[in-house]
Amino acid sequence: MQYPSMRVSQMFFRTLRETPAEAELVSHALLLRGGFIRRLAAGVYSYMPLGWRVLSKVTQIIREEMDAAGGQELLMPTVLPAELWQETGRWAQYGELLAKLEDRQGRKFCLGPTHEEVITDLVRHEVRSYKQLPLLLYQIQTKFRDELRPRGGLIRGREFLMKDLYSFDRDRAGLDLSFEKMYDAYCRIFDRVGLRYSVVEAEGGDIGGTDTKEFMVIADAGEDSMLQCAACGFSANRERAECRPADGAPVSESAMLPVEKVSTPDMKKVKDVTEFLKTDARNLVKTLVYSGAGGVVAALVRGDREINEAKLARVVGPVAMADPAMVEQVSGAAVGFAGPVGLESVRMIADHEVKSLLNFVTGANETDTHLTNVNLNRDFTIKEFADLRCAEDGDPCPQCSDGTLELKHCIEMGHVFKLGTRYSEAMNAVFQDEDSVVKPIIMGCYGIGVSRIVAAAAETSHDDKGIIWPAAIAPFVVQISLLDPNVGELAAIADKLYNDLQPAGMDVLYDDRDERPGVKFADADLIGIPIHVVIGKRTRERGEMELQLRADKSKRMVPAGDVVTAIQSLLTQSAA
Ligand SMILES: [Zn+2]
Repeated sequence: MQYPSMRVSQMFFRTLRETPAEAELVSHALLLRGGFIRRLAAGVYSYMPLGWRVLSKVTQIIREEMDAAGGQELLMPTVLPAELWQETGRWAQYGELLAKLEDRQGRKFCLGPTHEEVITDLVRHEVRSYKQLPLLLYQIQTKFRDELRPRGGLIRGREFLMKDLYSFDRDRAGLDLSFEKMYDAYCRIFDRVGLRYSVVEAEGGDIGGTDTKEFMVIADAGEDSMLQCAACGFSANRERAECRPADGAPVSESAMLPVEKVSTPDMKKVKDVTEFLKTDARNLVKTLVYSGAGGVVAALVRGDREINEAKLARVVGPVAMADPAMVEQVSGAAVGFAGPVGLESVRMIADHEVKSLLNFVTGANETDTHLTNVNLNRDFTIKEFADLRCAEDGDPCPQCSDGTLELKHCIEMGHVFKLGTRYSEAMNAVFQDEDSVVKPIIMGCYGIGVSRIVAAAAETSHDDKGIIWPAAIAPFVVQISLLDPNVGELAAIADKLYNDLQPAGMDVLYDDRDERPGVKFADADLIGIPIHVVIGKRTRERGEMELQLRADKSKRMVPAGDVVTAIQSLLTQSAA
């Protein structure tokens, strides 16, 4: 697909010399400075012609790969009726991220943050028989999520462009196949746009699903984090990563000291207690009270660890932190003083690490009081142990025997989920199978943050002068800078090159402005087009043009007559 070429003198375009105050991330600053985007409101941006071209090229690559994998494109509305969301319970469950509105008749709607309900509604009305399955349906559409603190420009905007595909199958085997097709298509998409990515095991989150994987780009500015093992290649989202149960030495009873009750007024935090008792957080056990459909649950983790609520939910079902009143009712103490001793009437689950602790500190179930020298089995018993803590940098790898996990910040670019019947059962999307039995359709969902790809490319590929776009998604592949547009002879040469490159399949940005060379070079570096042809004095004197590569700043002089071929061969090399 060929995009139109353009003269800078006619383009709606302005670069900024200064970094706008609102920009927190490099990509955000460079996209604003380069004239790719402009802010309309917090987390809401306009794409200027330059930015729109990058977005369009990303979109086109995604569309080609979705189509090649058997996807059919459609377009669903942005404004969605509440009733559909109420059918699945997500009208309430989605929380504040869901932007709700009302029409003049008081009917409730939301701005679509994702489209499982709408697509399931479409399919339940159209599909009757197994003969109509499988289906892979997708759209590339604007979404809205009312993030409390949108930051990072296009990386976490409130309004953003997304590709969402939904698969509909007769059975699990069909879902596995659809999932595999999407997984492969995603790898091709991220390869083609030129991003270096990792695929990690992930949590289902709000969408709800099993077998979920995320496509991550490693970037210091990323809000997500993953744990990776260099030895075996294991990668998981930090929320998902399992911890290998530590094989600590068995606790010897002879080393156990008598329990002591200590007064710890107002010391509700681990740090306060351990500083006061001059001990380490690793020698304390936190008791966290949760409530869920199955009642109250107390979760025990070492004081220096972070509880992983997703892991807890996998053991006990969905839970939420208990409110202060409930904590007081359960433990008999204010928040911050709960402990396992005497709490046996409550379902207690402890992280594996608690097994190997000796003479540790816990809350005393009495306000302003802790216990020291507490020991498992002597002072309290635990029936259930589980992996409850968040994995951390430096933990042993759960997959191989000698690797260590390394924490890396990253940006989530895409995810693939097996949904199963979560939506089809809630919304009665069924079909009649070959055996005449009516069954719920098995679903999957697969998303890519299209606008986020634009930001991630800028975030991971730039230097101090500007963006270095991968050729496949650069706003133009070639830029021509005519250094002295008032010399008619040079202008004619530049015009000719501009006209010759286009039929050869290249989209060209032609800087024909009456500006100083310094301005043109600075703008060219900032907007980051892969190949830059400079036409100036030496072109007139020797009949040569300078070819600059944005990626490595290399320069070469090429006879004017060979420039088209030279550019073609450079592009072929960079694509290889
Ligand atoms: Zn490993």
